[in-house]
Amino acid sequence: MTDHDIEIIESREAQVAELRVRRALPTKGRRTVGAWCFVDHMGPMALSPDRSIDVAPHPHMGLQTVTWLFSGEFLHRDSLGTEQLIRAGQLNLMTSGHGIAHSEENPGLRSGEMHGMQLWIAQPSLTRDGGSEFEHFDQLPVLETTNLTATVLVGSFGELRSTARRDSELVGVELDLHAGDATVELNPDFEYAIVVANGSVLVDEFVVEPGVLAYLGAGRDECRFGATRASRAILIGGAPFDERLFMWWNFVARTQDEIADAWRAWSTADERFGRVDSSFARIDVDPPPWMSVPQ
Ligand code: MN
Repeated sequence: MTDHDIEIIESREAQVAELRVRRALPTKGRRTVGAWCFVDHMGPMALSPDRSIDVAPHPHMGLQTVTWLFSGEFLHRDSLGTEQLIRAGQLNLMTSGHGIAHSEENPGLRSGEMHGMQLWIAQPSLTRDGGSEFEHFDQLPVLETTNLTATVLVGSFGELRSTARRDSELVGVELDLHAGDATVELNPDFEYAIVVANGSVLVDEFVVEPGVLAYLGAGRDECRFGATRASRAILIGGAPFDERLFMWWNFVARTQDEIADAWRAWSTADERFGRVDSSFARIDVDPPPWMSVPQ
């Protein structure tokens, strides 16, 4: 593959609590884009009184979660004591470091639409065993240019820079394309991908629609996106992540032993992951398949 080829990788269907999602990362075709290691596209789905979209308390380690909504609301609670409502166009960024737990709950919406993305960023060795942190941004830098409104979640894009915590060289941007062509500046040292949330985006000669990850590769200093109607996508990019990653359940680690330790700590309600003040019962899972548990 040359630098400027595009690779279209099908997302896979997955289930998160009662939410059906399309998982664009990781897939068999691709594990990471920069340090981005997980992309779930949630919805759009109609909310109704008989449908729970709550994700009960569960642990994370070695990663940052990026919650980004196009419509709907979530109430985030975590073991640092944070309680934060997130609405469309805002950013919740949670850094787990060695361990944190959180829930994402419906704040009581019984109608309307839920649509968004949840992404994970693998933390580098420098910070992955460090402390946990939560940041919320009501407003983010917005670039208005020909046929495009770009909102910078994390990292730098053109002249704009998000002040959200960033532990490695990466960027995450929402592209709202109006009908027509839009050209954006890219960093040739980064690899990039887009995931379309709604509509249809033309990249080079490829039509990219929801349900795939379009990997753009590295070496580009700009990219032209086309749309024949209003369309929305997430652009993620970063310096190729060269550390080994081992992911299982909600944990990003380097080895099976680290995962086993984390599973044990969560399953015994060890203080490592703390406690979330939620009315929902914690999510417990069976041990990882390689782990032998004493009878
Ligand atoms: Mn989570």
